[in-house]
Amino acid sequence: MTSLNQTLFEKSSKLIPGGVNSPVRAFRSVGGTPIFFKKGLGSKLWDVDGKEYIDYINSWGPMIVGHAHPQVIKAVQEVAANSLSFGAPTGLELEMAELINKLVPSMEQVRLVSSGTEATMSAIRVARGFTGRNKLVKFEGCYHGHSDALLVKAGSGLLTFGEPSSAGVPAEVAAHTLTLEYNNTQSLKDLFAQIGDEIACVIIEPVVGNMNLIVPTQEFLQTLRELCTKHGAVLIFDEVMTGFRVALGGAQALYNIKPDMTTLGKVIGGGLPVGAFGGRKDIMQCLAPLGAVYQAGTLSGNPVAVTAGLETLKLIQTPDFHAKLAAQTKKLVDGLVAAAKEAGVVFSAQSVGGMFGLYFSEKCPTSFAEVMQSNKENFNKFFHSMLDAGIYLGPSAFEAGFVSAAHTDEDIAFTLKAAKKAFLSLSNH
Ligand SMILES: *Cc1c(COP(=O)(O)O)cnc(C)c1O
Repeated sequence: MTSLNQTLFEKSSKLIPGGVNSPVRAFRSVGGTPIFFKKGLGSKLWDVDGKEYIDYINSWGPMIVGHAHPQVIKAVQEVAANSLSFGAPTGLELEMAELINKLVPSMEQVRLVSSGTEATMSAIRVARGFTGRNKLVKFEGCYHGHSDALLVKAGSGLLTFGEPSSAGVPAEVAAHTLTLEYNNTQSLKDLFAQIGDEIACVIIEPVVGNMNLIVPTQEFLQTLRELCTKHGAVLIFDEVMTGFRVALGGAQALYNIKPDMTTLGKVIGGGLPVGAFGGRKDIMQCLAPLGAVYQAGTLSGNPVAVTAGLETLKLIQTPDFHAKLAAQTKKLVDGLVAAAKEAGVVFSAQSVGGMFGLYFSEKCPTSFAEVMQSNKENFNKFFHSMLDAGIYLGPSAFEAGFVSAAHTDEDIAFTLKAAKKAFLSLSNH
């Protein structure tokens, strides 16, 4: 019998490229059919065929208080009744700006946008306008949205031009983007020694969640901060994923490093489209209508989306919210490591706050090259055993996972029980 899920995917594939509106949703890397969902509540999801799952994707991060939290839903319903959009300022945007400034004090001024991609693209533009320089530095394996200048991989050798990692990006656009290895302090020093005064900005995921989870060394981030200050380059922390998730104040609070600019997304919209960029006042004042750097958005600061974000941010400010989230995430990770060990499977895992990484490798990787060495075949088998058991993990060996405040001890226990079986099935192969 064909499931409704299968039918929807086949029909979608005729009208939507690959059947999905964002490639990470496809099951290309693990094989099989993406799941079509109809309902979520707390830590649980239900697909169109009625199967229940424990959700460890959480919409790739935003659903940090769980799905359909009654306080968020109620506030959204109320504000929606007053019109969905004005294209003019609202007090809600001020409330959001005040809250961002309070929780992430390095963001002296802030502007709201509608996605993480817009936030990083705009932050880079204003950094370039502020410095009058063109060169942009990023790190291999970090993702900062899909704007042209950021879809770039390392060229061959340190000082060569970047190469586009996507068709449709002109080589001329990629030429201004330089890509370095994450956690490689020496390569940073070398680059700055040679062209430091030409660098407009460095953009980094201060904890990486887009090549699975990669944790920075304190020394690496510290050196980056010092070099940017010395050479007048703008340091941008892309906290679209880590913001409000690894700690209330984001990775910059966790590592005690103050970037010049920060980009936010995901949690800040609580599941609706909100992004933000902000930072030093002298940089942000370069933006139109005050300055010469143009940036705009018809739906920027949308009242309904901002309300979902505000209510979510209110909920995560309750005492011990992040301590509990981190403890619950660690319980999951420790349990998985123990289960793998028992089954004799080569596996490692770690967590930062409410984010976790699972790796079919001897130890937790620290760079893109190391991540790529993990056993992808084992991940794919593990993924499908877990999915069958009703555990929804990211459909790729290179994605991080997310726990929400709604994940209970029972959810973790259920997950670990399924994982034991899944690991055993691997070691028998
Ligand atoms: C998700 C993500 C983005 C892009 O955000 P979108 O809302 O998908 O455009 C940018 N940077 C990081 C670190 C992200 O995790």
